[in-house]
Amino acid sequence: MLSGSNWTAAEIGHITVEKDGFTCNCGRVGCLETIASATGIIHQVNEFIQQNPSSELSHYFQKKGEISTKDIFNFAGDHLCQQIIQRTADALGVVLANLSVVINPSVITIGGGLSKAGDAFIIAIEKPFKGMLWHG
Ligand SMILES: [Zn+2]
Repeated sequence: MLSGSNWTAAEIGHITVEKDGFTCNCGRVGCLETIASATGIIHQVNEFIQQNPSSELSHYFQKKGEISTKDIFNFAGDHLCQQIIQRTADALGVVLANLSVVINPSVITIGGGLSKAGDAFIIAIEKPFKGMLWHG
C-alpha cells in the first residue's frame, strides 16, 4: 500500500478533473468525487434542474423530491441521464488512465455505490480510459 509521508496518498477522489467544477467537501474545486460518486451525480442533476427548470425530467425529479443515483441509471435511456453518466464515466476513465500510466496495475477495482451501476457504466468508463491509455 502507498501511504505517503502523512498517510494521505492515493486519495484519487481529490484529483482535479474540472477546474470550474463543484466545490468538494475537502474545500477544493472540481475534485473527481464531485463528479464520480453518488453525491457527484446528485450535484449534476441539481445543476441540470437549475439550468432547465421546465424540462420533463426536472419536473419528475422536483415532484419526486429526493433524487438517487439509481434514478439516473434507471433512466439511462434519457438524453440527460446519458450525459450525466458519460460525464461521470469520462472523469473516472481519464483519472484511471492517468493512474495506470503511473502505477501500471494489472487490475483496477471500482468500489462504492457507482460500482453497482452495472455493465453500462463500466462500458462508459472504458471509452475514455482506453482513449487515454498509454501503450508504451
Ligand atoms: Zn476534494
